[in-house]
Amino acid sequence: MIQKIKGTMDILPDEAALFRHIEGIMREEAEKYGYGEIRTPTFENTELFVRGVGDTTDVVQKEMYTFVDRDEDRSISLRPEGTASVVRAIIENGKYSDPMPLKYYYIISCFRHEKPQAGRSREFFQFGTEAFGSDSPAADATAIALAASVLRRLGLTNVRLHINSIGCNDCRPAYREALVNYFEGHREELCDTCRTRLVKNPLRLLDCKSPICSAIADKAPRTVNHLCTACSDKFKLLLSALDEMGIEYEIDSRIVRGLDYYTGAVFEFIAEGIGAQSTVCGGGRYDGLVESLGGPALSGIGFGMGITRVILAMREAGLADLGRNTPELYIAPLGERAAIYALGAAERLRRAGKYVECDTVGRSLKAQMKYANKIGAKYTLIVGESELDAGLAQLRNMQDGTQTEVSLSDLTL
Ligand code: ATP
Ligand code: MG
Repeated sequence: MIQKIKGTMDILPDEAALFRHIEGIMREEAEKYGYGEIRTPTFENTELFVRGVGDTTDVVQKEMYTFVDRDEDRSISLRPEGTASVVRAIIENGKYSDPMPLKYYYIISCFRHEKPQAGRSREFFQFGTEAFGSDSPAADATAIALAASVLRRLGLTNVRLHINSIGCNDCRPAYREALVNYFEGHREELCDTCRTRLVKNPLRLLDCKSPICSAIADKAPRTVNHLCTACSDKFKLLLSALDEMGIEYEIDSRIVRGLDYYTGAVFEFIAEGIGAQSTVCGGGRYDGLVESLGGPALSGIGFGMGITRVILAMREAGLADLGRNTPELYIAPLGERAAIYALGAAERLRRAGKYVECDTVGRSLKAQMKYANKIGAKYTLIVGESELDAGLAQLRNMQDGTQTEVSLSDLTL
């Protein structure tokens, strides 16, 4: 038997209904906040992600699904995230001459070769948004409000917003130095990965999940104490905007985000009680990205929300059971002619907008009644051949078991 690839999942109808429900809310909310849907290719030139995500990141160094295209000697990768592709698309389509801000959202699958576990898979699903062309904290607040609004509408009250600012090119170097000095003093205690990070990307040390590094990181210098006046003012404005918008947050100096392109405000929505993979949504500002991918100097703010993690949080809160979609009517024919009639009747009722099932297996009446019960049909219409000739049938209320004779000519439900 051929099995699915490790770290991928089959989404069966009940689960798919939950995905549709969640994705529907994501779409509705995004449109309300003025974001338009964008669809970009599933694979891109590898170079886009190397430059866009950053070549010091785990994503680019260890996790990308990269291959050489068949007929051209060119390296291609499945997208590990959505932002780089959207930036490429706005540059390639010349959208930067449109009125600002440009606001896009997408619901996509992403691919990362990570160790599969609860809330972490190799193909995963993400709702993402990007807004370009405003460096005002008002744009940050709007993006955060959209994410919060989706989570609120899904009923998730066990999710908290953690927020931080990691500064800009003016203030980050000094902060970086303060961090390196601090962690150098603990070099021997750090994990191997963090010792490499110390040289390559010291901010990422704050993100380490190992208990020892994490305890050291708790006492590390805080970005918010090293921000330049401009960054500090923007961060304060963002917090007052969130206050005004009624969005609760906690300032968390450990939030730095995993990808290289972030600047300024960064945030995560963290769910309680869903285990180690508790970040359901992460995002922030990436003011240098568009330019670094060959576009104009356009600032940007966005987030990615992991749909499977949202589902874990909904399960934990008892919100994931949507209930089944059940037929209004099941038509149970007896005999060949009645079976053909049943197909026609079911079709007419469906064209009138009803959810109707009828036998397609050739079951006995008893087995059909059992089946109708199992699928939760509200009514069953029993059509025998002699009744059919008389234009009559038996309509059974499956809840209370009562049965009435009905005329087939006024069968409208
Ligand atoms: P993590 O901290 O879990 O490694 P990340 O910082 O790598 O996340 P992003 O690249 O910002 O994540 O992606 C945005 C969101 O997508 C995450 O907050 C998470 O909800 C989800 N996500 C990321 N990687 C995976 C994965 N491998 N499986 C499932 N969901 C994921
Ligand atoms: Mg990750």
